[in-house]
Amino acid sequence: MSTVGTAQSLWLLVAALGLALSVCYAGNPMLGQGAFLAVGGYAVALLGPGGSGLPLGVAAGLAVLLAAVAGYLTALATARLDAGYLALATWALAWLAQRVPTAFPKLFGGTEGLVRPAPARLVSRTLGIEVTLTDRLNLALAAACCLLVLLALYRLGRGPGGLELAGLREAPDLAASLGIPLAARRRAVLTATAALGGLAGAGSTVLVGVISPADVSPLLSLELLAAVLIGGTARSWGPVPGVLLLAVLPGGALAVTGAGGAPARGVLVALLLLAALAARALVRRQARRDRPPPPGSQPAPPARRGTGLELRSASVHYAGVTALDDVSLSLRPGQVHALIGPNGSGKSTLLDVLAGSLDAGTVRLGAAVLPAGTVCERVRAGVVRTPQHTTVPAGLSTVQQVALGARGGHCWPQSVPRHLLSTPRSRLQAARLRAGVTATLDGLGLGRLAGLDPAGLSTGERQLLQLARAVATGAPVLLFDEPAAGMTAAERAELRGVLRRLADDGATVGIVEHDLRLVAAVADQVTVLDAGRVLATGDAAAVRADP
Ligand code: ADP
Ligand code: MG
Repeated sequence: MSTVGTAQSLWLLVAALGLALSVCYAGNPMLGQGAFLAVGGYAVALLGPGGSGLPLGVAAGLAVLLAAVAGYLTALATARLDAGYLALATWALAWLAQRVPTAFPKLFGGTEGLVRPAPARLVSRTLGIEVTLTDRLNLALAAACCLLVLLALYRLGRGPGGLELAGLREAPDLAASLGIPLAARRRAVLTATAALGGLAGAGSTVLVGVISPADVSPLLSLELLAAVLIGGTARSWGPVPGVLLLAVLPGGALAVTGAGGAPARGVLVALLLLAALAARALVRRQARRDRPPPPGSQPAPPARRGTGLELRSASVHYAGVTALDDVSLSLRPGQVHALIGPNGSGKSTLLDVLAGSLDAGTVRLGAAVLPAGTVCERVRAGVVRTPQHTTVPAGLSTVQQVALGARGGHCWPQSVPRHLLSTPRSRLQAARLRAGVTATLDGLGLGRLAGLDPAGLSTGERQLLQLARAVATGAPVLLFDEPAAGMTAAERAELRGVLRRLADDGATVGIVEHDLRLVAAVADQVTVLDAGRVLATGDAAAVRADP
């Protein structure tokens, strides 16, 4: 293959690796990587030599920045879309990237595109240097970028950021309930994907000396997606074989169809994409059995135990139904507080209010009034709850799931660069997180969960894992919605021990429970709800004596 051909494939690989970050790591189906290539390519042509005349390095830097901004704005605009609509929206971007240049021919050169002198010259008057960016030098730059991005992805996949992205991909609601801010992570990922697309666009435009709508057709976006999916997912080198295949595609298209050009190439890409998607369904099933060891990162947050939670006059109405009617409640540190009452009496709704998924009444943690906000913010403030139904993603090992809990409340943007550079501090933190997860499980007497396959857990074990995940957040207030549901007698005994241990350690524990024997055995305080009202509240013995 020629130098130019190889360099071009390497730039495509940079774009594909960037796309893999969104698609494979974070599970966001992004179809419009070609659009960000277009932003990078047109920006460097418009701003650099032959256009506005900025030095090439500056123009390329601005091109990457513009693409990153475009990615950030795309993330903002699509923040509330679920996966299918995100795919559609970004596919529309891929179309726009080709249509806009043709619609504004004065600026973008129409279908002919913008032609720039190649090889480009890097000139610095201040330093008195003049370097000609030959094809070979461009190839070396492209190769260096590929290696750097591959290395970064490899490290990301094994670090704290990778764990969070796995949570985002496998169980976004769970990740949010453990304190990981999904929207912010998604913005960061899409921005990085777009920046790498822009870099690839700028690099290949400088290489061939022209950028035209044909270079950034929606077909390019599809090719990049196919390249990412062909190589399999969740591995940093995943896009490499796909891009290799694309590099030999023009020859293949000619051989198979007897006609070269975009149409034949399009047919082959579509077939590849279908094959890759079918293979992906099979591979995902296999990947569940073949999980990586738990990545490490930061220490479990210090427990700020010993803080009580108080709710003042909360009312919640659903269309025609009063779920809570002026409920006040006080959970004390070091005690287990049981909420009992018939089905539909408002117990789960009460936990929703305490945990921030519903806004009602005034919630006070210690002396501080907690503002209305997201569940994620409430976890960071120190209140975590488990849902009534268990969520145990099979794609994350039990230890990873507990580690995901321990990630909540940590500052991702700072810890990721540190981890990428593998600083001594980040390695220490990784070791501490692993130790913290083990300590959390052992401390609860649940060490046996560490070796188990999440797909094979019994209902009771799923409940216990869910509980351990919440405890790992370090939140001093722990709310569990019917943790004993589906448990065997032995598991109930285990749960009793776990709850007692948490309270004795100073945690503020609230549980919704139907099993009155369990309540009698473990609860210090009991509140009885009926039809959204508090019937009785107080010491367990006193409530039991109350008819
Ligand atoms: P519990 O957990 O005690 O069984 P819930 O708190 O789940 O009770 O429900 C209390 C009442 O609020 C019930 O009448 C239920 O039907 C109603 N309810 C709960 N969630 C919703 C909702 N999202 N939309 C409408 N009604 C709801
Ligand atoms: Mg309920």
